Amino acid sequence: METINQFNSYVMGTYGRFDVVMESGENRVATGEDEKKYIDFGSGIGTNSLGFCDSDWVEAVCSQAKQIQHTSNYYYTKIQADFAKKLCEETGYSKVFFGNSGAEANECAIKLARKYSFDKYGKGRHTIITLVNSFHGRTLATLSATGQDVFHNYFFPFVEGFKYAKANDIADLNEKLDDTVCAIMVEFVQGEGGVIPLDKEFVDEVAKICKEKDLLFIADEVQTGIGRTAKLLASQHYGVKPNVTTLAKGLAGGVPIGACLADDSCCEVLSKGTHGSTFGGNPIACAGGYAVLNKVCADGFMESVEKKAQYLWEKLSEIDEVVSVSGKGLMIGMTLKTKTAADVCKACLDEGLLVLTAKEKLRLLPPLNISFEEIDAGLEILKNVLSK
Ligand SMILES: *Cc1c(COP(=O)(O)O)cnc(C)c1O
Repeated sequence: METINQFNSYVMGTYGRFDVVMESGENRVATGEDEKKYIDFGSGIGTNSLGFCDSDWVEAVCSQAKQIQHTSNYYYTKIQADFAKKLCEETGYSKVFFGNSGAEANECAIKLARKYSFDKYGKGRHTIITLVNSFHGRTLATLSATGQDVFHNYFFPFVEGFKYAKANDIADLNEKLDDTVCAIMVEFVQGEGGVIPLDKEFVDEVAKICKEKDLLFIADEVQTGIGRTAKLLASQHYGVKPNVTTLAKGLAGGVPIGACLADDSCCEVLSKGTHGSTFGGNPIACAGGYAVLNKVCADGFMESVEKKAQYLWEKLSEIDEVVSVSGKGLMIGMTLKTKTAADVCKACLDEGLLVLTAKEKLRLLPPLNISFEEIDAGLEILKNVLSK
């Protein structure tokens, strides 16, 4: 309790934390200060895509720290050049801007969309349509972009110029369109909103409208990106190519990063002096990201994610307490029959398994390189908790 008391004395109480102090981790197992072990079905919160302290990732991050840990963005670094090239080539985008978080990546996308429209059409075409029940971050602009009323409290005034259309409702989307709109921003699978995927027809309509009206199609893949859904990008499930894609959580394996990718139509919009970030493109973060990409993009890796996802979906569907399973790949939501997700989350923790919640659902975001043995061990705990 000593660590926890000290922590709470000095760190702002912005999170509802469990009474566990995590001290170390190896493979997909964390160890608490009290030596208790926890199988990680949450990847932290979608961040530790290669589990805890993957040896190649550690080597990349540590050797970069020993070589040059940071420098001003007034200079170039080779690791940022290498990572940017690999990221653009693998995702099919033209250029990238690096920040340090998902919110920053989205903030960049919002600025990019508004300037794209301002440069071509002048003032007044600034509205960004996002979806009801979305989550885009905690900065003022990204809170405003987030289509949930619970996030629109206390911090008035919020940033203007956002409208919320109902997900999977084409008529409502069309109703929200007017001459002030410059972009449509979506999560292909709403994460925090409850692991809810968009319909193919809806996504096709978004892509069509954006093309017809010269709006930017922005995909927030902060949670879905980099293999989470068993494709490098979730857009590949839908066969669409948004103009802008944002990434963060799992991108660098657990060091802070955010990335805003842009295609040919808009990759020159953010010109000299229009955007920046002191730590954006930090060499250690880029080294972590490069190590993650090298693994995730290697031959056979995504197939292995797909296999584990199929196995996990199958096993979860067999559990009596599980009414339905939603999501894609290793981004999994479960609706429960009689238990609340919060209670199950706490009970799993007590039994040595880390899981997450999303609204009323139980949420799993296991590390992409989790082993079948670790999956089975975690499932055993989950089944026990759900059968009590
Ligand atoms: C987590 C998340 C964010 C915010 O990322 P931060 O790194 O916390 O700023 C934005 N969008 C989506 C879809 C997310 O899941």
